[in-house]
Amino acid sequence: MADTVTDEGFLLAILNSTPVVDGVPTDDFADMTRARGWLAGAGGLGTEAELRDVLAIRQALQAVVRGEQPADVLAPTLQGVTYVPAVKDGQITWTLSVAPERELAVRAVLAWDALARHSPGRLRPCANDECRLFLVDHSKANAARWCSMAVCGNRLKARRHYQRVRNMQVE
Ligand SMILES: [Zn+2]
Repeated sequence: MADTVTDEGFLLAILNSTPVVDGVPTDDFADMTRARGWLAGAGGLGTEAELRDVLAIRQALQAVVRGEQPADVLAPTLQGVTYVPAVKDGQITWTLSVAPERELAVRAVLAWDALARHSPGRLRPCANDECRLFLVDHSKANAARWCSMAVCGNRLKARRHYQRVRNMQVE
């Protein structure tokens, strides 16, 4: 079974594949050749069917993490998925059993679930409402609000400062 840390990176990469670049929403997976290459690099098959599943689960997971949809929308992806136990070297191992082209989408859902269980409330959308990225807060205080302090944090601070200065001039 894939380890949780790797899958957290994998989940974030999928969630964060629709960034806003220069104010324009973009999609890293819009170029099918590039997207399929990425999927193959993430351990998938790189097929069109797999990409379709990943795009569907990306949309569902983004909506769930943003609180726009209940987690029920993830159910279709998990349909028919099982874990199969086997005994090897005196230990029981569990293997995910799912059609190969569905495995990446299922892994993304399982990574989301593992994160929600082990680190509840740590995965969240960036607090900059013009940013479409997500973050996993590993800090002790769990108070991180930006996907990146350098980008979104400073941009928002600068904007607030500008508004404060402008309001002062109006008064
Ligand atoms: Zn951000």
